This record gives sequence, structure tokens and C-alpha cells, in this order.
Amino acid sequence: MTAENEREKLEADNYVLRWLLWLRHGCNGASLYGDDGEMQCNTCMIDFKRDDPLDIEQKWIEKVKHIPKGARWSEVFERMVKAEQDADS
Ligand SMILES: [Zn+2]
Repeated sequence: MTAENEREKLEADNYVLRWLLWLRHGCNGASLYGDDGEMQCNTCMIDFKRDDPLDIEQKWIEKVKHIPKGARWSEVFERMVKAEQDADS
């Protein structure tokens, strides 16, 4: 595989993963804006097409309230799941 092919493969993979994350990141479908190839969420204010993955992670963490400073990702995930369960009930 040439360097150019590897780059194209990485870009294609990146696009698919961003699209899946945008589609299934936990916000209601009414919050999602996907016209013209956009991948935005009007609730999280995350631009899944343009935001750097580390910025996406930070915005995602900030949307879960009361995260202790220095929390590990597993704690954040548990709180997100609980917040989503509470929202559903
Ligand atoms: Zn969202």
C-alpha cells in the first residue's frame, strides 16, 4: 500500500468513525444537523466533522455535570450512562 493509499484509507476510516459517533453519541436525533454533509449536534455544540477529537472529548465530558477534577474516563462513562438512563425514565 502506498503512502497515498494509506492516507486515503485513514481519511475514509476517520470519516466513517466521525459519522458513527455523530449519529450515535447519545443525543436525541432532533439535535442532529446533517444537511450538506454536516455532522453537528445542537445540544452538545460538537461539530463532528471539524472538531479535533480531543476537543470533542472535552465537550463531551463537559456535557456530563459534576465530573470530579482528574476523573478517569471510566467514571465519566458511568456517569454518562446514568445521566442517559435518568433522562429516559
Ligand atoms: Zn449531542
